Amino acid sequence: MQNYPSWLRVLCAPAIDLFRPRLAAKCLAAASRPAFVAIFLLSLLAYAVVLICLILWDSTVTQIWVPAQSTATSTAPTTTWAGDWEVRERTIGEVWRDWRASAFKGWIGTAEITLALVLILGPILVLLLGWLNLPLVHGTGSVWRSYKRSLRAGTAFLWPLTVLTVACGTVLILAVHAGFRGFSGRPLWLVSISSATCVLALWLRRAVRAVASGEPEQTLPPRCEGCGYNLTHQPAEGRCSECGLALDDSLVAWRSRLGSAWARQKSVSSWVRTVCDVLFRPRAFYRAIKLRTPPAAAEAFAAWNYVLLPLGALLWTVVLFVLALLKESGPKWYWIISELPWIAWNAVYICAMILFGLCWCWLGQRVLAALVVSWWLARQPLPDFRWAVKVMAYETAYLWTFLFYWGALRASFVLDEMWISKLLGIRYVTVLGSMPVEFAVFLFGTLGLVVIWLWRYRIAHRAIRWSNF
Ligand SMILES: [Zn+2]
Repeated sequence: MQNYPSWLRVLCAPAIDLFRPRLAAKCLAAASRPAFVAIFLLSLLAYAVVLICLILWDSTVTQIWVPAQSTATSTAPTTTWAGDWEVRERTIGEVWRDWRASAFKGWIGTAEITLALVLILGPILVLLLGWLNLPLVHGTGSVWRSYKRSLRAGTAFLWPLTVLTVACGTVLILAVHAGFRGFSGRPLWLVSISSATCVLALWLRRAVRAVASGEPEQTLPPRCEGCGYNLTHQPAEGRCSECGLALDDSLVAWRSRLGSAWARQKSVSSWVRTVCDVLFRPRAFYRAIKLRTPPAAAEAFAAWNYVLLPLGALLWTVVLFVLALLKESGPKWYWIISELPWIAWNAVYICAMILFGLCWCWLGQRVLAALVVSWWLARQPLPDFRWAVKVMAYETAYLWTFLFYWGALRASFVLDEMWISKLLGIRYVTVLGSMPVEFAVFLFGTLGLVVIWLWRYRIAHRAIRWSNF
């Protein structure tokens, strides 16, 4: 008989576990099915209510186009376009009455459509989150059971999402309303949304870790690292009878799997060495890491990548700014001092954009990893899928190649914005519609890097699948 947490505990979880993602995920994972369904629907409903309230508030201040009063003497047709944007303010009650008045057939209005969208898109989001986090949750055994745990952790994600939607929505609405009065709040809401996304990603990471597979390590027969031949009965000649690889290369830890430089010793130099090993010698690197140890070291390596990547991007932006400044003629210091508020405002904007870009990189990396692991689950099984978590963590180093590619491209545009067009002698290319050559180089270069990434996962899979350590 399974021991379920009480209904009261489950229903109160959004309030008491908001800042405790691990407990939130554990509570939902252990909840009985009816209690889980109830809290899932309530969470969706709460999100819809929050969204409707925000839209109501947002609609209290709008801009409407007021045509100019035509005078008796004017006959020219251009006067019909004359007019001005005017700020119109309404109370929340008035907005609500207007919604009701304009509702389709009297009852399908903005509020009902918002509710329907949340009830349709919310479950889709949770299903996708369950899939996205499956590689971090699954170990051995039933994939379906792992997916259910991942799904429940994804449901808890709706709670911080609701709170941060209130916070970001408030900033966004205030910025939009202020925008009607001529104030640009764009950097402010970009900062709030990108930092909220980072907080959500961290929250989800902790929640998912709490429901990750805790099954004990299986006892697997010793395998040949080259071909997977079962080495329980060792051939007398000291070599694999299938592929000829020396037995010691498979069965002696210090000869076959020493662990990554970072796992052996955590220092700046070992981090750099590990990044270089992952990037330039993936086969040798994955043949040397230990798979059956806890993933803490690999995850710390990934975390450092995610800290250093935005810092690298920021440093590169500063270098580009200085380069652009040197290209300009005239007194620079005077310009910098006189334009300091503008520069500071743009610095905030750029930091927000970098954080935003980081969130997209994170999402891209996770989606690709989820695709790869899904493929492995279906077609190329691993003895234990916790090994895939290590590959995913070390592969974050590959994000540096994207940073270098985009950074180099951006830098070349600072020096000469049109150099690719000039070099090729064309301005536009037609692939799925016409696009500027510069954009095509950016887009297809990035896609090329993604294809290489998929190939790298294949290399990693081949190097780890018969691991003995
Ligand atoms: Zn062999």
